[in-house]
Amino acid sequence: MNDIKRNLEKILSEIPEGIELVAAAKSRTAEEILQAIEAGVKIIGENYVQESLKKIEKIGHKVRWHFIGHLQTNKVKYVIPVYDMIETVDSFKLAKEIDKHAKKNNKIMPVLIEINSGKEPQKFGIIPEDAENLIKEISTLSNIKVMGLMTMGPFTGDPEKARPYFIVTQKLFDKISDRNIPNVEMKYLSMGMSNSYKIAIEEGANMVRIGTKIFGERKYI
Ligand SMILES: *Cc1c(COP(=O)(O)O)cnc(C)c1O
Repeated sequence: MNDIKRNLEKILSEIPEGIELVAAAKSRTAEEILQAIEAGVKIIGENYVQESLKKIEKIGHKVRWHFIGHLQTNKVKYVIPVYDMIETVDSFKLAKEIDKHAKKNNKIMPVLIEINSGKEPQKFGIIPEDAENLIKEISTLSNIKVMGLMTMGPFTGDPEKARPYFIVTQKLFDKISDRNIPNVEMKYLSMGMSNSYKIAIEEGANMVRIGTKIFGERKYI
C-alpha cells in the first residue's frame, strides 16, 4: 500500500459518519489524485484555475470538484462549467459574475460563503457581521445557490488556537439557518485542515479540507 492510500485509510476511519472529506489537491499531480480517488475520496478541492483545469480534464467527473482558492471574477467563466461547488464566495460582485456564467451554462451553481472569522485585514472572506446581508443579497440571484459557510481561520502553529474561530463560524451558521432565507439551504459548514480538522469537527464542521495529511508536505502554498 502506498502512502496516500495508507494516510486515507486512517483519516477515513477516524472521520465520523456524515462528514464530507475534501482532498485539498493543489500542487498534486493527476496520478496522486487518482490514488486518492481509488482510496475512497469523493471530493477534490483545488485552489488555482489553470492548474486544476488540466487535472479535471484528465480525471473527469468520477469525483466532485470544489473550488477552494480565491476566485478572480475574470476566471469565473472557466470554473462554472467544470466545478461542482465554489467554497469561497465573499462578495456580491463575485456572486453576480457566478450567476451570469451559470445562466449561460444552464446551471445552478452551489456555493459556500467564505467567512473571515479572524477578521484579519489581509485575508479573503467576509467578516461575520456582514455575512447575513450578503447572503440575503445573493439569494435574489436565480442561478447561484448558497449552501453554507466556509472558513480558514488564522494560521497558527497551535490548532487549539483555531477553535474560537470555528465556534464563531458555527454560531453564524446556526443564526443564518434560523432565518430560513428563501433560495438558501444551509447544509454545509466547511472548516478544518490537516492540523485542525479534529477540532473543527468537535465544533460542528460537516466538511473538512485536508491536503498535507493525505498527500504529504507540499512544494508550495
Ligand atoms: C491547502 C488548503 C487546505 C488544506 O491544507 P493542509 O494544511 O495541507 O491540509 C484546506 N483549505 C484550503 C482553502 C486550502 O487552500
